[in-house]
Amino acid sequence: MRLLVTGGAGYIGSIVAQHLVARGDDVTVLDSLYKGHRAAVPAGADFVEVDLLDAEATSEAVARGFDGVLHFAALSLVGESQQVPEKYWRGNVVGALNLLDAMRAAEVKRIVFSSTAATYGEPDVELITEDTPNMPVNTYGNSKLAIDRMLTDEARAHGLAAVSLRYFNVAGASGELGEDHEPETHLIPLVLQAAAGKRESVGIFGTDYPTPDGTAVRDYIHVDDLAVAHALAVDKAVEGRHDIYNLGSERGYSVREVIETARAVTGREIVAIEQERRAGDPPRLVASNARARVGLGWAPEKTLEDMIRDAWAWHAAHPDGY
Ligand code: UDP
Repeated sequence: MRLLVTGGAGYIGSIVAQHLVARGDDVTVLDSLYKGHRAAVPAGADFVEVDLLDAEATSEAVARGFDGVLHFAALSLVGESQQVPEKYWRGNVVGALNLLDAMRAAEVKRIVFSSTAATYGEPDVELITEDTPNMPVNTYGNSKLAIDRMLTDEARAHGLAAVSLRYFNVAGASGELGEDHEPETHLIPLVLQAAAGKRESVGIFGTDYPTPDGTAVRDYIHVDDLAVAHALAVDKAVEGRHDIYNLGSERGYSVREVIETARAVTGREIVAIEQERRAGDPPRLVASNARARVGLGWAPEKTLEDMIRDAWAWHAAHPDGY
């Protein structure tokens, strides 16, 4: 298929693009390079530098002719989204609207959207299903949920074939491609920076949660497993439907378990310092993946150890990022 990958110079988008190239798709990456890295665009993919807020340039890029779009381009810093909500409403929601306008004009009928578990907010349930009510607790989650709702409406009104994939905690690396965020806020890369001596320690944000060891529990998923899910979603999108799938493992790991696994994988000490809770972090977020198993024929295959090992290898090969 001829596929356009927006945000394909970012962490997840680049690795999905790499997977699509490997399976024989004809891939074009569209990215503003605001946060993305030109070096992350996988070999074998075309590249266009376009900001989705530039409606005209977006239309021109989409008019090149595609069978489908995978839409990753977005602002994703939760803290910043609370400080400057208008930046997120414009960047994420107007960007997506411009993309959908361009797709309608060019008769591109298929989209896979990078949604998020943040649409659910802080549900107090054992496993989060797609029927768990959407109650985002920050602007980032609000902006992603708004786009999900746009897709539902576009599918109904215009026959778009749309799939939203709601990621839980993505980690790991894939060959030459890995995670290089500025600022870095995610647990696993921060733990590995501490292992590598790039930072003195890592904080454990909260030790009084109602969880087995008192630290927060998350559902970690390998970025390669995520890439497989995207490829399946592109193939299985149905005209006139908007399907939503959680992508997680149904298994949670605490902050302490992540740090212990990283110590075992890296053989490094990793100084961890207990701190206060970070504002807005719920105790436990673990996905049900029952719907993805049935609807996509997908299940995660890689373990937390695989994620940390692959991320560690990428850090070793790219100590200063891209
Ligand atoms: N966390 C932590 N120390 C850090 C960064 C994160 O203890 O330096 C915790 C955070 O409170 C959360 C978990 O690790 O419970 C995963 O955080 P991350 O930012 O990676 O992803 P989130 O679940 O917030 O999207």
